[in-house]
Amino acid sequence: MEPFPSDRIQLPRNMIENSMFEEEPDVVDLAKEPCLHPLEPDEVEYEPRSSRLLVRGLGEHEMDEEEEDYESSAKLLGMSFMNRSSGLRNNGAGYRQNPDGSCSVPSTRTMVVCVVVLVIAVSVIMVIYLLPKCTFTKEGCHKRNHSMEFIYPLATNGKVFPWAKIRLPSNIVPLRYSLFLQPNLTTMKCVGSVRITVNVIQVTWNIILHSSGLNITKATLNLEGRSQEKPVEVLEYPKHNQIAIVAPETLLVGQNYILSLDYSSNLSDTYYGFYKISYKDEQSEKRWLAATQFEPLAARSAFPCFDEPAFKSTFLITIRRDEQHSTLSNMPKNTTVSVTDGIVQDEFYTTLKMSTYLVAFVVGELKNISQETNRTLVSVYAMPQNLGQVEYALDTAVKFLEFYQKYFYIDYPLKKLDLVAIPDTEAGAMENWGLLIFRETTLLYDNKTSSAVDKKLVTRVIAHEMAHQWFGNLVTMEWWNDLWLNEGFATFMEYLALKETFPDLHSDEDLLNLQFKTMRKDALNSSHPVSSAVQSSEQIEEMFDALTYIKGASLLLMLKNYLGEDVFKAGIQNYLLNHSYGSTQSDDLWDSMNEITNGTLDVKAMMRTWILYTGFPLVTVKRKGKTIHVEQERFLRSTGSENQTSSASYLWHIPLTYMTSNHNLTFHFPTVYLLNQKSAKIELSEEVKWVKFNVDMNGYYIVHYAEEDWQILIDLLQRDHTALRPKDRANLINDIFSLAGLGKVPLTKAFDLIDYLTKEDSTAPISQALFQLNLIYSLLEKRGMQELAGRVVNRVVKLLGNKIDHQTWTDNGTLSEQELRSTLLSFACDHNLGTCSTTATDWFKKWKDSNGTMSVPADIMKTIFTAGAKTREGWEFLLTMYTLSVSEAEKSKMLEALARTDDVRKLIWLMQASLEGDHIRAQELFHIIATISQSFPGHLLAWDFVKENWEKLTQKFHLGSFFVQNIVIMSTCQFSTEAHLLEVKTFFESKLEDTSQLHYVEEAIETIQLNIQWMEKNLAKLQQWL
Ligand SMILES: [Zn+2]
Repeated sequence: MEPFPSDRIQLPRNMIENSMFEEEPDVVDLAKEPCLHPLEPDEVEYEPRSSRLLVRGLGEHEMDEEEEDYESSAKLLGMSFMNRSSGLRNNGAGYRQNPDGSCSVPSTRTMVVCVVVLVIAVSVIMVIYLLPKCTFTKEGCHKRNHSMEFIYPLATNGKVFPWAKIRLPSNIVPLRYSLFLQPNLTTMKCVGSVRITVNVIQVTWNIILHSSGLNITKATLNLEGRSQEKPVEVLEYPKHNQIAIVAPETLLVGQNYILSLDYSSNLSDTYYGFYKISYKDEQSEKRWLAATQFEPLAARSAFPCFDEPAFKSTFLITIRRDEQHSTLSNMPKNTTVSVTDGIVQDEFYTTLKMSTYLVAFVVGELKNISQETNRTLVSVYAMPQNLGQVEYALDTAVKFLEFYQKYFYIDYPLKKLDLVAIPDTEAGAMENWGLLIFRETTLLYDNKTSSAVDKKLVTRVIAHEMAHQWFGNLVTMEWWNDLWLNEGFATFMEYLALKETFPDLHSDEDLLNLQFKTMRKDALNSSHPVSSAVQSSEQIEEMFDALTYIKGASLLLMLKNYLGEDVFKAGIQNYLLNHSYGSTQSDDLWDSMNEITNGTLDVKAMMRTWILYTGFPLVTVKRKGKTIHVEQERFLRSTGSENQTSSASYLWHIPLTYMTSNHNLTFHFPTVYLLNQKSAKIELSEEVKWVKFNVDMNGYYIVHYAEEDWQILIDLLQRDHTALRPKDRANLINDIFSLAGLGKVPLTKAFDLIDYLTKEDSTAPISQALFQLNLIYSLLEKRGMQELAGRVVNRVVKLLGNKIDHQTWTDNGTLSEQELRSTLLSFACDHNLGTCSTTATDWFKKWKDSNGTMSVPADIMKTIFTAGAKTREGWEFLLTMYTLSVSEAEKSKMLEALARTDDVRKLIWLMQASLEGDHIRAQELFHIIATISQSFPGHLLAWDFVKENWEKLTQKFHLGSFFVQNIVIMSTCQFSTEAHLLEVKTFFESKLEDTSQLHYVEEAIETIQLNIQWMEKNLAKLQQWL
């Protein structure tokens, strides 16, 4: 069983593709610059973690890393002041209250004491204010020397660094970059120089910008139009990745200056910045390639820049390379000239105005195929040996380009669009303007080895990255708190574009399944609003999570269904037009929509409740005759939590949809009711037999019916399940199991509801039922309750056994049928049902005997490989074939099969090999750990591996990255004992400084607590009746 069957493929880049706005601390600012991004009151209001605002005014430039200290310090301060004042009262030294309640006139002695106390208190406050570096922790004050340098940090050379905030000042803005780079793929060094034309907004003496790990060798500054370049001093503050250019004279308002910096660096060993990748060519010779991954914060490690999304500029990029290599960048090549023997120089056209995180370049040996559409040349690049697998991507990209231009009503503005598959990257894909970079599994399609699921993945990731060319590239979020404007939209557009362009892929059901999983996460106390305040690099990286992507997309889907297709489309066209080449906040989108609705509906008022509240609503429905009473509250998986009180005032504006027994399904339009109060009454025009809310699960909420109405729906499914559509059936399964988890519905009722599955043919409800049963099975199995877990399997066999028996070992049928086959046969073989394992082992033997030349149906390839890898010989053969295969789709299935062996030594070897990156690429490590965590022999190993290699993992993949988020969640989500809870807590407490504020650590701990609760509540009952 796979509790999370396809999370890996369903969360591209940025998920795979690669999760609170923190108040800027008040720091005494020499330049007296106002903050570029003032804190929005609303952002604070809705952010439960804004408790850190308690320390506002203390002043601190290291808020990101020491915020725990500050919260402690605030608490300590609060307490000490409280104690002091109560001490005053108790000691009777201050004002005394008379029995009648009036105050007596203080004595001279009392007044003197008061004045002294006041002076001390003022002094303490002054000291605290002026010494922001000093934090009140258990260890006491960090610095002993209280002097001026505590207001501003010290640069590496010991001088005062003139800026203390993480965000850059707004006194200088960049206009143009001219960037020169010469990467050397032999020495792995890179020489670079950048000329940045900046405009002065407010008079200043310093230019503050980003730079990380760059060795700056020369810096000059000159007024634009003047040739005299003056050398300038560069101060570095690595903690914030910032440098300060100290101007020789005042920089005048309105003037443009040119800042020139020469530097050198090493090509990166990680997956961020300008990094090197080794691979084997067709002759199995080791070769090198260099590519970029800048989002969110790594452009600064390739060139000094103003690395915040709102600082949009143009970029003129020049790259010097070896003759045999080729280069790609955002824009088409303008000139190529020979420099010296074997060295040539490519200059690209100047880009449009864009953010630094979208700048990209690739240097290496690549081959491509191209096609022109609407004056844009679309090309797909890959390693030469993979050129046979790029055709599908090219056709798909051309179709999507045409679709998006029509849908957004804005032409793609560049003359070329490159899609490049590179052999090693953490991200699933990256949307750099004009130069989309993918991992090979998300771009290459091979007829023989790619399954239905693989095809969908490639299609979806292309759709996602291309949608970003408008959402993200043309119009960009102002700051990372609104990342959902990029990612929620691109995810939403994936499904919309697929539905319109490739209807046979049935992709909207995939979004449904992801929505169910995301709601499980969003129903935790550790969840956060879609638009959350973020500042530190970890917080920014953590924004790349399911809430930003899937919840963001689900909310847009809900809005589209409420407004109607035409109004919604006009709204986003208006938004893109209003803000082309600019930066936006969430409210800009709602304002653009409101211009279209023209007062008939306030989109902003409605959507702010969804974007700024944490979690989502539970709608309780009670029916009496023709009257339906509906009521909303926050849905939380844990009962009695403090968040229930804090969210008691939440009032979502819920566009409730419902259908009744009197609707004709064929011509059915759901009835909509906007619930923006705590409760309301809906009057039906006539009495009905049943009512089902949240039609097609287009709304992001869970519905709870009265006991009789649940029974009516259970009976309806038994009698005539086609009265509801597949998505509604899947929705009922999700809702009833979610409510059973809370104890609002007996678990037996949830099992009663899925009894109708014997008649079910649609993939969505079957997948959802299997997902819910898998969760229960996994908990029981990992607690060693094999007999009881076996009874869960028997239940599945009772419901789906017939369907499993009728599956053929082919690739025939519709895509939906192929997917269902994959799921059912994989389940059957995992649990040794019927003849599944024997058939799979026979297939594997034949394939092995043919030395891997025999063709195997792609949809069941993973099942066949998994069965074969159960033996030592089979496993070793598969590993050999893995190293030889040129199809990434095939390799991915092989790797998963290898990671599903029961041999623990092999499992440990796989994880270690992937971490080292020699036999298996490090990009695969997530896939390996996720697979191993699910198995009985592997789940403890996976967690041990994560603990033992924590430092290495967080160095290679970053603490806040999607990768680290998910290996922590995956490797702990099946624990359900106090001992494991304590162990996980203790581990992260030992890393307190790094992990205390991370959502995913809170999520991991809360999930174990919920598992423990679930077992306590349900175990005895399950043993009785299952
Ligand atoms: Zn994206």
